[in-house]
Amino acid sequence: MSNGLSEQARAAAAAVDGERLWSRLMAMAAIGARADGGVCRQALTREDRDARAVLTGWARARGLRVSVDAAANLFVTRPGARDLPPLLIGSHMDSQPAGGRFDGIYGVLAAFEVLEALEDAGLGTGRPIEMVAWTNEEGGRFPCGCTGSMSWSGEAPLENFLDVVGADGVVLRDALAETLAASPDIERRGLGGGAHAYIEAHIEQGPVLEREGLAIAAVTSIQGFRMSHVTVTGTPGHAGTTPMAARRDAVQGALRAIAALNELMADPSDTVRFTVGCIDVEPNSPNTIPARARFSIDFRHPEEAVLEARYARIEAAVRAAAAPCDADLEHESSMSPGVFPAPVVAAIEAAARDLGLPAMRLPSGAFHDALFIARACPAGMLFIPCKAGLSHHPDEYATPQDCEAGARVLAATAMQLAEATLS
Ligand SMILES: [Zn+2]
Repeated sequence: MSNGLSEQARAAAAAVDGERLWSRLMAMAAIGARADGGVCRQALTREDRDARAVLTGWARARGLRVSVDAAANLFVTRPGARDLPPLLIGSHMDSQPAGGRFDGIYGVLAAFEVLEALEDAGLGTGRPIEMVAWTNEEGGRFPCGCTGSMSWSGEAPLENFLDVVGADGVVLRDALAETLAASPDIERRGLGGGAHAYIEAHIEQGPVLEREGLAIAAVTSIQGFRMSHVTVTGTPGHAGTTPMAARRDAVQGALRAIAALNELMADPSDTVRFTVGCIDVEPNSPNTIPARARFSIDFRHPEEAVLEARYARIEAAVRAAAAPCDADLEHESSMSPGVFPAPVVAAIEAAARDLGLPAMRLPSGAFHDALFIARACPAGMLFIPCKAGLSHHPDEYATPQDCEAGARVLAATAMQLAEATLS
């Protein structure tokens, strides 16, 4: 076993109080609690503001400084001995409309637990350690997920998001103003400013850790994606009178195209993610040969080279398979994978091993704020197991033991990285 952790890092991990963390998780789960056991605490709603107020109260009770920026990203600061860029730890507090009790909020409360553990143990750091809760990660209400982390990191200016209209008709600009106005006593800080490093703890939202019986994953990367639509055009006609041989049936063309894509996307390692989630048929009448079929493509992979190479072959594959129908590919959006720096991944893995927690490396299938923060400073993530891989679901669950273990690794990693040179 490695003996890489400093004594301070081990002391920080040992000071983590799992019962306190669990009670805070359950207190937050009560804000926006759903009858089915889940949580609805969407970004910049009354429930989000209530959760922010509760967290602010806990921070102030510990004498920790609370501040907020123009994107309503919320920070709790434990000062360091020197005036250096902070080590950031955190995640998001907003949930999906039918969300669970752990997605996002776990990483925020684990980070807050680290600050409390350091307070309890009287452990000082050279640089400040800050907890952060990023605004609107989920994008369930305002369809511009990761608003807070994107605007903090410079990925996109905050102005780009202000006119976005929420599912409830509210404009993001107004919801943001309402949230900031709800806590006028919280110190305002500039948006951005960088950090020494950022570490985010999160439930895995997938089945791997549970299946492998492991406590921790050091996340290596966040996969990128390509999204597009294919339109297959045929010739409409009477279902009863048009001979089969003469048909250009758009649905049959689309089925052949999807079968060809399944072949193109085949991957024995099961790393490729390929989904046709949407099919529209026109005129959508049972006794008319379809004139048009339009389907979506959602293609994800952790390696840019694989995304590039397979995506480049989609259009030709679809055209050939759909013939004699016509087929057109309409590119919609793409995102490059985020690869976390090796020293950060190694630090998380080493901290877990040193604390006696079985760990593995794992790419993230889902997006996280860390993807964008990684473009501004060295960033990394750790996952804890969640029951049956369920997330964005009222039954989402992580055990108190796993929650505590993740917070211990976060504490040790934060202490190690706070003193390390990373660039
Ligand atoms: Zn999340």
